[in-house]
Amino acid sequence: MKMQTRGHGYWYENGYRVLYCGKKNGIKEHIKIMQDSIGRKIGKDEVVHHINHNKLDNRIENLLLMKRSDHMSMHRKNDGYGRRITTVVLEQIKNLKNLGKRQYEISDQLKISKPTMCRVFKYL
Ligand SMILES: [Zn+2]
Repeated sequence: MKMQTRGHGYWYENGYRVLYCGKKNGIKEHIKIMQDSIGRKIGKDEVVHHINHNKLDNRIENLLLMKRSDHMSMHRKNDGYGRRITTVVLEQIKNLKNLGKRQYEISDQLKISKPTMCRVFKYL
């Protein structure tokens, strides 16, 4: 169902903000922001994940470009110790990475298994 918000140039679809881009076409705002950031279109095997799970928080720092398969397994699987990879965990990993910590150090510190860390680390 499309809710056209005429004059503002966007509407909402499945919880996402969709930008009007001519005729009857639209592009999801988070996709557009990621594409602008990386300077190319995102591929069929790629998805843009919202780190804090808020579909309307389209700040680039809240967006992660991931391979579709990694994205699915991240949503489905846990951290190797029976806990789900939550927003909080992802943000902790990201913060530690920004502080210059290495993958294995973060793994030890947050008690996240090496394979799981491997799966998400490269995207943060
Ligand atoms: Zn996601």
